[in-house]
Amino acid sequence: MAAMKWVYNFSSGKADGDASLRNLLGGKGGNLAEMTNLGLPVPPGFTITTEVCTAYYENGRKLPDGLDAQMMEAVTQIGADVGAEFGSVENPLLVSVRSGGRASMPGMMDTVLNLGLNDATVEGLAARSDDVRFAYDSYRRFIQMYSDVVLGVEHGVFEDILDAYKHLNGYSSDTELGASDWKKIVDKFLELVESELDEPFPQDPHEQLMGAVEAVFGSWQNARAITYRRLHDIPDAWGTAVNVQAMVFGNLGDNSATGVAFTRDPSTGEKAFYGEFLVNAQGEDVVSGIRTPHSLTKASRKKNDRHSSLEELMPEAYGELAAIFDRLEAHYKDIQDIEFTIQDGKLWMLQTRSGKRTTRAAIRIAADMVDEGLIDKETALLRIEPGRLDQVLHPTVDPTAKVTVIAKGLPASPGAATGEIVFSASDAEISKAQGKKVILVRIETSPEDIHGMHAAEGILTSRGGITSHAAVVARGMGRPCISGAGQIKIDYSSNQMTAMGKRYSKGDIITIDGSSGVVMSGAVPMRLPELTDEYLKIMSWADEIRRLRVRANAETPNDVRQAFEFGAEGIGLCRTEHMFFDSDRIMNVCAMILAEDEAGRRAALNELLPMQRDDFIKIFEIMSGLPVTIRLLDPPLHEFLPREDEEIAKLSQAIGVTEKKIRQRMSALHEFNPMLGHRGCRLAISYPEIAEMQAQAIFEAAIVAGAETGKPVEPEIMVPLVGFVEEFEVVKNVIDRVGSEVMRDKGVTIEYQVGTMIELPRAALRAGEIAKSAEFFSFGTNDLTQTTLGLSRDDASSIISNYEMKGVISVDPFASIDRDGVGELVRIGVERGRAARPDIKLGVCGEHGGDPASIDFFDDVGLDYISCSPFRVPIARLAAAQAKVKSDRTES
Ligand code: PEP
Ligand code: MG
Repeated sequence: MAAMKWVYNFSSGKADGDASLRNLLGGKGGNLAEMTNLGLPVPPGFTITTEVCTAYYENGRKLPDGLDAQMMEAVTQIGADVGAEFGSVENPLLVSVRSGGRASMPGMMDTVLNLGLNDATVEGLAARSDDVRFAYDSYRRFIQMYSDVVLGVEHGVFEDILDAYKHLNGYSSDTELGASDWKKIVDKFLELVESELDEPFPQDPHEQLMGAVEAVFGSWQNARAITYRRLHDIPDAWGTAVNVQAMVFGNLGDNSATGVAFTRDPSTGEKAFYGEFLVNAQGEDVVSGIRTPHSLTKASRKKNDRHSSLEELMPEAYGELAAIFDRLEAHYKDIQDIEFTIQDGKLWMLQTRSGKRTTRAAIRIAADMVDEGLIDKETALLRIEPGRLDQVLHPTVDPTAKVTVIAKGLPASPGAATGEIVFSASDAEISKAQGKKVILVRIETSPEDIHGMHAAEGILTSRGGITSHAAVVARGMGRPCISGAGQIKIDYSSNQMTAMGKRYSKGDIITIDGSSGVVMSGAVPMRLPELTDEYLKIMSWADEIRRLRVRANAETPNDVRQAFEFGAEGIGLCRTEHMFFDSDRIMNVCAMILAEDEAGRRAALNELLPMQRDDFIKIFEIMSGLPVTIRLLDPPLHEFLPREDEEIAKLSQAIGVTEKKIRQRMSALHEFNPMLGHRGCRLAISYPEIAEMQAQAIFEAAIVAGAETGKPVEPEIMVPLVGFVEEFEVVKNVIDRVGSEVMRDKGVTIEYQVGTMIELPRAALRAGEIAKSAEFFSFGTNDLTQTTLGLSRDDASSIISNYEMKGVISVDPFASIDRDGVGELVRIGVERGRAARPDIKLGVCGEHGGDPASIDFFDDVGLDYISCSPFRVPIARLAAAQAKVKSDRTES
């Protein structure tokens, strides 16, 4: 068997690998190879592959045979390239040893610099660099890093020695220490290591190198790295590569420097070099914040900044760097994030990778690069993460603002909001009516709080996950929300909360950032969303390319208008129950529920009819001719009845029913599991008069709105929670009957469709039969997920996070569709439904309709449209386009 190739060189101006070998060489190693092949000035080195990492763990933490020899051959090559020799006293080669996995894991794993130094080679370095201070400073850095990373001697004890030395000698900063000081520090460090470990610091460079390589592989399994991988879905099996590279020094005096740069501005996307550097410094100094770095270009230098830019200070090196930026962009066709060092006037490239960017920048860069002819429209669309479009659609906290953080919770619904604290939904409404902006703070929320959530600028809960009631509803409404901020203790009785030991009362101002989960005291400066030309351009390309149509889930005129403005092509779900919670009608709803008999219910429903009709007229008018799906009443009726004593008393007074009666009715209606039982179409079967009233309101509204806008309305009436075709047919008959009555009365004929939600496993399985009567399906993946998994949405966050910890499942099926269970049912429903009725209209209106990964799935199963909350409409448009581009590319 041929010996395994463990080591890939990038030296003598050519590399064994390239960026396409990312899985084997890691991102850093692959790009160092790629830059070497492009002829760029990269310090020579080699990459030890990720396969070595795998072999190391398979061997019980032992480096594989043959690696040592391959490494030493490569080290010799590096030495030859730079005119030095590893271990030579006169002319020592020093190397860096760095991790570099497939996915970037910033700061999670270990690095060793200046490797190769010992008591003898430090003298050689001093002589060669003509700088004794530099040599000993490098040596002490190496001892400290190596002891920490490889030998397990804690970093802090070295810092203690250094601090004590500075204190004793009256120094306040490291720069005051001279060569003889560093020599003394080196001696103290060496003594410390020997006394901690009972053996001297390793002086043999070969031993040092093998130790460092092993330590970097070992760091793949350190606690920090494991946690990071779990949080970012990086498989343990990937392993890391290790890069060994000749050291270059940016701290060799005033003709040396080090810096980081982006080829475009990563926060605005502007086509201008963007970066920072420091003269006479090492890489860590730029990022660590010990010294303030200076601007790379003259143009980006702030007016009051006295420090010259690199462009002015070292024009030649800067010129070379700028040319390399252009080459790298033209080569990679994406914004690059670059590290470089200038040693004695000579430029060296240490790293390039695609640059992380804000959404705003991603949009601008993608659009610009199409104009520049670098990429095509399809590629541009793939460059923007749909889930992060939120960043440009909501106000955000000004990143330069000074803030006082008082708690942290889960980023449940993006955007930032400031307002006075209120602790109840009714207070939210009252304050809003007084023209105040409020943040609704609750332990958790329930359907009764909807009106308060609507009235609030943002919602904060101390309990619940990102799929809690508060989170789901807030996202639907486009309200910023933080859930599960457990450090906040809320006391409803005193209208107060405590956070970080401080008390906040009703009326105090706070700011929440639903994108980060941070709660701040007081008002904080915000940035308003701006829909740039580039954004509009990108979205128009998305619309050109996508196959899936995009609708919105909305019921209030405001939300419907918002959805329309965000580009919704229809309403996929109008949940009529939300309309019933409005304060002007909840009393009538309660009266209807509490009525003794049908006549009583009809009387209350008659009061509701004109209100419902007006709701629908407004929606139809705004959507002017676009399709609107209205769903009949869905939730169990007890959800509409009040729970608090005070409110029960108020209701009793208003409708003349005793409190005792109300309580009796409540317990009769109460569903133990509100997701099942007496709800959905079952309500319409028990109380057909409710469905009649709703159907009448819909038909009458369609006629009025059609006449007013001149665009005929074709309402789609949807029956919820159907499991048996017979259930559907009972309700459809009611709708058809009311439809003909209204049309006859008004003397107008309109087209309409009656369809159903597919949200029970039985409905998906019986889709063939149901489709014979139903003219459209809308997959209700919220209920379908709950009924398939036997897991309610509110329980999900705790159960799923427990599962994630134990590695049982790693995705939240309420966030992204569970393809093997719920998804399978959707697929079956689509196939059987289409087989029975080829022109059946198929959509989805569960939360998954706004989730990019799920949209990919819905495109694949061949739905006609997806429907999601208004603020997710742009996300869905982009995700639908990406799904199409990806499937076209795999086909061709
Ligand atoms: C669903 O079940 O997916 C759905 C859209 O209905 P709701 O969330 O209102 O139950
Ligand atoms: Mg449902």
